Amino acid sequence: MNAISEKRIESLRLLLQASSRICIVTHMHPDGDAIGSSLALKHFLEDCMGKAPELLIPDASPDYLAFLTRGEKMHDVSSHPEDVCLLSEADLIICLDFNAARRAGEAMEAAIKANPCPKVLIDHHPGPDTEQFGTVFSSTEVSSACEMLYQVLLALPQISGDASALPRTSATALMAGMTTDTNNFANSVFPGTLRMASALLEAGVDRDWIVARLYNEYRENRIRAFAELLGSHMTISDNGVACIIVTRELMEKYDIREGELDGLVNIPLSIGKVKLSVFLKETEGMFRVSLRSKKGVSANRLAMSHFNGGGHELAAGGRLYIPADIPDRDHAAGYVGKVTADL
Ligand code: 5GP
Ligand code: MN
Repeated sequence: MNAISEKRIESLRLLLQASSRICIVTHMHPDGDAIGSSLALKHFLEDCMGKAPELLIPDASPDYLAFLTRGEKMHDVSSHPEDVCLLSEADLIICLDFNAARRAGEAMEAAIKANPCPKVLIDHHPGPDTEQFGTVFSSTEVSSACEMLYQVLLALPQISGDASALPRTSATALMAGMTTDTNNFANSVFPGTLRMASALLEAGVDRDWIVARLYNEYRENRIRAFAELLGSHMTISDNGVACIIVTRELMEKYDIREGELDGLVNIPLSIGKVKLSVFLKETEGMFRVSLRSKKGVSANRLAMSHFNGGGHELAAGGRLYIPADIPDRDHAAGYVGKVTADL
């Protein structure tokens, strides 16, 4: 399926032109791609179309993205639940970096579904919800929602193929989101990904600055926590499943903040014999789950069948509920062993 058909671009163009109360929505626990794509679209709509879109996020944006979000107006629904009403008043809702409204959290899902206005989805996960979203730009053959959005923006008349016509803030946010979703070009890189990077560089985006903000400004605590977790808490089974379980006590010990352990799940995959990396982080009444796999093991299928989640073929996430899935937190390791025993 060609994600960017002329017909779909034309319908998006007409929708954008006709709408005055546009809401942009992204997923729970937003990452670089979620925030990057949302901000890139917001600035395009503001700077190139004179619109005043509202950006709604289900949870706060992590500190490591402060270089993108500083000074940006975003409605964090976790701290301002009343802002969900913006969705009810919207005449166009555009969702980014998820395939189904439930990924925006219960309150936003309900508001999205209740509003009969046109809805647009721009994403890169398998299985987009084409019933809920009338206009869908989605492909798994792109690195990120940022890349999908980049292609959409370039096809619109305001940009018409010239990346240098993008607002600088949009171009920077697109480069940042693509960079985090590819782990700085380590995975999910397609020919179009490099074309996008090249065009954005040519348009003047300061990639060195972005990469330094993303990867060279961590707090010392994060690295100390990584050291303890990798050194003392990582198990590796005979069938190549690495598992790290982070308790609330450990997070308190290192004063770990939201999003600060992102990336840890990738590290065990650098060990030759590891084919699946499982990362569990304890929160209220459940563990948040991250899965990363090597070709041949489907992180997505595992997340869907055993961890109440989903994602991409090799990178997925979900939740492990207490007591629905396991009686208490001490059973988490046993549960992971059981559901991955036949890999
Ligand atoms: P992460 O491990 O970085 O949180 O997530 C990896 C991938 O899995 C991302 O593409 C994310 O969208 C997806 N993902 C994470 N958590 C969930 C979830 O609870 N449900 C679904 N469907 N996808 C998830
Ligand atoms: Mn993404």
